[in-house]
This record gives sequence, structure tokens and C-alpha cells, in this order.
Amino acid sequence: MKTVRTRIAPSPTGIAHVGTAYIALFNYAFAHQHGGKFIIRIEDTDRARFVEGAEQVIYDALKWLGIPHNEGVDVGGPYAPYRQSERLSIYKKYAVELIEKGHAYYCFCTAEELDVMRKEQQKQGKVPMYDGRCRLLDPVVTKKRAEGERHVVRLHMPNEGKTEWEDLIRGKIEFENVLVDDQVLMKSDGFPTYHLAVVVDDHLMEITHVLRGEEWISSTPKHIVLYDMFGWKKPVFGHMPLLRNADHSKLSKRKNDVSLVSYMQKGYVQEALVNFLCLLGWSHPNNEEVFDLQNFLKNFAIERMQKTGPVFDFNKLNWMNGVYIREKLGTAELRGRLEPFFPTDFPRDKFDAILPLIRERLVLLSDIESLTDFFYRDFQLEKSTLQSKKVEDGVVKEQLEKTIESLRNTTEWKYDIVEAAVRVLQEANTWNKGQYFMLLRVAVTGKTATPPLFETIEVLGKDKTLERLTRAQKLFSSQK
Ligand code: GLU
Repeated sequence: MKTVRTRIAPSPTGIAHVGTAYIALFNYAFAHQHGGKFIIRIEDTDRARFVEGAEQVIYDALKWLGIPHNEGVDVGGPYAPYRQSERLSIYKKYAVELIEKGHAYYCFCTAEELDVMRKEQQKQGKVPMYDGRCRLLDPVVTKKRAEGERHVVRLHMPNEGKTEWEDLIRGKIEFENVLVDDQVLMKSDGFPTYHLAVVVDDHLMEITHVLRGEEWISSTPKHIVLYDMFGWKKPVFGHMPLLRNADHSKLSKRKNDVSLVSYMQKGYVQEALVNFLCLLGWSHPNNEEVFDLQNFLKNFAIERMQKTGPVFDFNKLNWMNGVYIREKLGTAELRGRLEPFFPTDFPRDKFDAILPLIRERLVLLSDIESLTDFFYRDFQLEKSTLQSKKVEDGVVKEQLEKTIESLRNTTEWKYDIVEAAVRVLQEANTWNKGQYFMLLRVAVTGKTATPPLFETIEVLGKDKTLERLTRAQKLFSSQK
């Protein structure tokens, strides 16, 4: 049996897309399950869309996610080069072979001519496609013309019959050949198009299974025809459902954040993102929702892959991220993940005391600052945020004064002692508990939602707590 070889073939056109990670994950799992190899090939033949540095971002992002590859530009391998721009002479050779066999032809149509053709077809209500006019030219003449004249090379699609394949995910798919365009294979800049390069490379790199996004389905008949023209064995094709926005349109950067780097920067835990991506394309045999990569690799089966486009549900991703932060990462590990998100004034020596108070509320690692800033940073305090509809300003003032006095006299600064002192005051004065506790909360933290009040006060320390209560009390002392 041949070794299973899968690949992703990203184009370095900008960001590392979350969709690339999703496709990579399943290609990796499939190869892993069959003891095979997973390859990254860089498809950089579209020079107009090429972005310097984008390739490295893809490797870095996949590394961050923990999806390893066996061969590629960065790690090498027996089928190098793995970058298409370094394989141009190979494609040229195969294009010539196709022309000589009569499966491809030179086309000299200008952009203007193609435009007129398209408009004419649209007027007649036809699907615009190349009408094959250059097929009719004499090959001896065109070969000569091609030496000095601007041209492309086109695939000579058969006019009749069907092209079909058994899709690993979707079952049988077929296309009428007459509806498939005479695809450009070599562009006028001497670069191959995706269609020629992908077939040549998948063949030469001995790719056995092409698992890619469903947006490539309409390209597959062109590829299959090419395999047949070359007389090559075809890989197995499987088309994965595309990730979708909430409105079911294709997940795109216009509507959503799709950059892996930005997920990293926002403070998503990579294991949570991987877990989430697994569930988008596949369901666990035991219906488990939270599982690690090893568990996924062990249980993966292509038969359990989704056929319809999964919605990229950010609420679910955030929930998943919270689960990993709360339950899956050990404290030391979590601290390491949080380090890059600590603001410069974060008191590292207080981390162990603060973490248990906020861990439940961390959704993103980057929330660390907004959830903890009042522990180490002073804030503006307005009188209006302390006032209450339920009680007079005079009572608020009294509440603050008595609290300050009572807490000043505590001998030990422990949350239960602080709490006891505060409760004694509240009961003795029959203050409204909700209002009074909220007053203290806002006075010492500046926020209405915080971790448990007395634990927070303990970590804040006696001096800081009294300082903030005094500041609040002064807002009620000045004459207004
Ligand atoms: N270069 C294509 C892409 O950017 C590869 C598609 C394929 O896997 O064949 O997704």
C-alpha cells in the first residue's frame, strides 16, 4: 500500500486564515491516522496577490496551534522545492507536453476580445466562458507565433461526456464537460495557473488524498481531466464544508476576524481554538465537546465529517476558551500564557492571590487587564456612581465614615474579618445590604461587577482600601 500523503497548499496572499488552520487540521489528522505524511506546499504563482512575509506567518500560526508538518519549505523534504515559484521550469515542460499531445493550445485573444465575448454571451443569456476560438488555429502556426507574441496556454476540455469522481466526503459528484471552461493553464507572464500547478505538484509529490475546501469543487473536473491527459493516477478527492458567518455566507474577513495572528493577539488559547475547529468539521463519536488534539487524532474518522457548512460561532469559541482557562490549563501553565498580556504595572507578586478571584471570569487571556486593573491602578471616581436612589447622601457619607473607622481598627486583614466587621455595621444600622455593599464595591474598585467583594478587599490591602474609602467619603463631605 502506498503511504498516505496529504497536503495543504496555501497561497501567501496576506494573513494566515483560520480556514487554512481548519483544512490543515483535517489533513494532518487524516495522514496521522494512516501513518502517512502531511505536507505544506506554498502556492505563490499569483504574483499580483503575493505578500512578502505571509509564508512565514502561516508556519508560525500552525506551529502555535500545534499542527506539525513533515515536509515543506521550512523543514525540507524529498520532494523539494515546495514553493511553486521555484518550480516554473517543471510546469513549462508539462504545458509543452500537453500542447504536443493536442490537449492544450496557445491562445492569443486579448483582454478586449475576451471582454466582448463575455458581454455577447451574457446578452444571449449564456454562462460566460471561453468559446474555444483559438482551438481552431493551426498548431504549427501558433507554435511559431507564440515565440514572439503575447499568449496564454489553454486546456482543451473535451466537448462531450462527463467527468465524475467519488468524493471522500460528499460521495459521487459529476460535471458535464461541455459546461467546463477551457481553463488557462499558463499565463502570459510565464507563470502557471493554480490548475496546472496543483495537478503537476500533487502528482510529483505523490499526494494520495486531496482534502480541500468545497470552493474548489468546480475546479476538480479540470484537474481530473488533466490527470487523464497526462496518464497519471488520480488522488482521492474530498471537499470539506466551508466555514460560514452567522448569516451562512462564506467566512470572510469583511464580516469576521479570520486572522490566526489576531486570535493569538486577542488571547485565545490555542488548544481551545483547535478543539473548536475540530468540532466545526467533525463530531466526536462519544459526543464529547471538550477534547484535546490527541483525543481527536485517536478518534478521527473521515466518515464523521460534516457535509454542510458549519457556522463559526464566536459565542461557542469564547465559551470553549473559558473552559480551557478555567479547567484545562494548570495554574503555572495559565500564568505562562497570561504573561504576554500582563500590563507593565501588573503586580506579578500578587498573581497567585488575584488569579483565583478572576479565573472564572476570564474569557480571553487579554481580559486580564480589565478584570484586574483596580488592584494596582487608581481610577477616577465620580460622586454620582456612589449615590443611590434608595438612600440620602447623608447616609452614604455615614456609611463610608463608619466603615473607615471600623476597618481602621481591624487587627488582621483577612477577608472573613473584614466581612464580619462590615456585616456588624450593616445590621446595627439596618442599612440596605444591596446598596451598602455596592457602595463599598464601587468605592474600592470603581466597578459594579467585580470578584467577590471581601476577597478583593483582602488582596487590595488595608492601606489601599482605606485610602479609596476615604477618597469616596470626601466626595460627600465637600459642600455642594
Ligand atoms: N492554493 C489553493 C488555496 O489557496 C489550494 C487549493 C487546493 O488545496 O487545491 O487554497
